[in-house]
Amino acid sequence: MKQLSKSHKGTSSQAKTAKISCPVCGNDEDFLEVANGVILTSRYLQNDDGSFILDSDESEIMGEVKLICGDCGADLAPYQQHFLDMLF
Ligand SMILES: [Zn+2]
Repeated sequence: MKQLSKSHKGTSSQAKTAKISCPVCGNDEDFLEVANGVILTSRYLQNDDGSFILDSDESEIMGEVKLICGDCGADLAPYQQHFLDMLF
């Protein structure tokens, strides 16, 4: 059921073909999403022989998430909503 709805969405992609590009350097391929204030928590379990194994990884984003150009690092906040809309 999930796969059906996803492929249905893909067929309507022709309605939105506009690509975003960096207004500073023109890059339209590489984009970075940067998160501030991320808390990374890793849980480890100690084995009987004193070694550790990773049990789980958790990340919590406290601050804002910014979209920036992957080439020149320009702030692409005005395009962030478009980015989220086109993220599959
Ligand atoms: Zn750029």
